[in-house]
Amino acid sequence: MRMGSSWRWQLSRAMRLALRWCRLCRPQRGGRCGGSKPWISGRCFEVWSYSKMLLKSLYFNSLTNADTLLDCAFEPVYWIVDNVTRWFGVVFVCLVVLLITSVVVIIYLFVLPTILSTYPLHWIVWHLCYGHWLLIMVVFHYYKATSTSPGHPPKDKTQIPSVSICKKCIAPKPPRTHHCSICNLCVLKMDHHCPWLNNCVGHFNHRYFFSFCLYMTLGCIYCSISSKTLFLEAYDAIERNYQTPPPTEVYEESTAHKSIIFLWVLTSSVAVALGGLSLWHMILISRGETSVERHINHKETRRLKEQGKVFKNPYHHGPINNWRLLLGVDKRSHWFTRVLLPSSHLPSGDGIMWEFTFTRRDPMAI
Ligand SMILES: [Zn+2]
Ligand SMILES: [Zn+2]
Repeated sequence: MRMGSSWRWQLSRAMRLALRWCRLCRPQRGGRCGGSKPWISGRCFEVWSYSKMLLKSLYFNSLTNADTLLDCAFEPVYWIVDNVTRWFGVVFVCLVVLLITSVVVIIYLFVLPTILSTYPLHWIVWHLCYGHWLLIMVVFHYYKATSTSPGHPPKDKTQIPSVSICKKCIAPKPPRTHHCSICNLCVLKMDHHCPWLNNCVGHFNHRYFFSFCLYMTLGCIYCSISSKTLFLEAYDAIERNYQTPPPTEVYEESTAHKSIIFLWVLTSSVAVALGGLSLWHMILISRGETSVERHINHKETRRLKEQGKVFKNPYHHGPINNWRLLLGVDKRSHWFTRVLLPSSHLPSGDGIMWEFTFTRRDPMAI
C-alpha cells in the first residue's frame, strides 16, 4: 500500500515538473513577445537553467557526497572483482591442496630416504615425529578453516544487541560484525575474506585460520632446512649440466634434482610470505583487533587525537588474555590439548555479545 502510494506520488511529481517545463518553453503572449535577439537568448538561458534544475531535482539526495558518487561509478568494477574472487576461491583452494600434496610426496620420495639412510637414530625419530605432527596440524587446521562457517547474525531473532544496520542485508549488525561483499553476508567478528580458504575469516574460524598460517610457516621452515643440503647438491648437479660436454645423468636423478629444487624454492618463499602474515596477525591478536578493526581504529585514533582525546580499544583485554580468548584456553592444560594438538572446541562467546573492557564513563580525554 505504501509502495503503491509512493510510486503514484513520484509519477504525479514528475508530471507536474514536466508541465511547468512545457509552459516555460511556450512563447508568451503580450508585450515581451517582440522576437528580438536579447529576449531569445534570455529565454534560452531561462529554459536551460530550469532544465538543469529539473534534472538535478530528480536525483537530489541530501546524503549524497563525492564518496557515494565514486561508489556508484565503481559499482560495476566491485561487482566484477567480487564475482571473480568468488570463482577464484575454488581455484585457489585446489592450488593449495595440490601444492601441499606435491611437497609431501617429494619429502616422502626424496628427503625422507636420505634422512633414514644417513642420520643417527635420535635424529630420525625427531624428524619422523616433528614432521608428521606438523603435517597433521596443517591438514587439520586447513580443513577446519575452509569448512567452518565464520558465523552470521541470526536472521530469526530481532532482539540482538546491534550497533548499526547493514545497508546490504537490511538487518541489525552486532558489534564487530561487518558485511562481506564476496559472501554477500554479514560476518560475526569479521577479519577478512580469504581467497586461499574460499571462506570468510570470522568469529568461529579465526583460530583455525591463524593456526593454519602458523603451522604452515613452521612446516615450510622445516622442509626448507631439512632439504637444504639436498638442494645445494641438486643445484650443483644442474649447474654441471651446462658444462661441455654435460655429464650423463639418468632420468630418475634429473627428476629428483628438479623436484628438490622445486620443493626448496616453494617452501622458502611460502615461509617468508606466510611468516610475515602470521607475524602481522600475532600483532593484531595481541592488540585485540581484527584486520577490519585495525583500519577503523586507526582512523578513530587520528580523529580523537585532533580533539585532544585518546582512543581506547574496548575489546583489548591485555595481550595474554587476548590470546587466551582466541585460542579458547581456560586452564593451563589447554595450551597442550587445545593449541599443540588438533582440537575442534568452540571459541569463547557467541560472537554477538561482547564484553567491553571499559564503560563510556571512563575518561578518554588526555
Ligand atoms: Zn550485511
Ligand atoms: Zn566473505
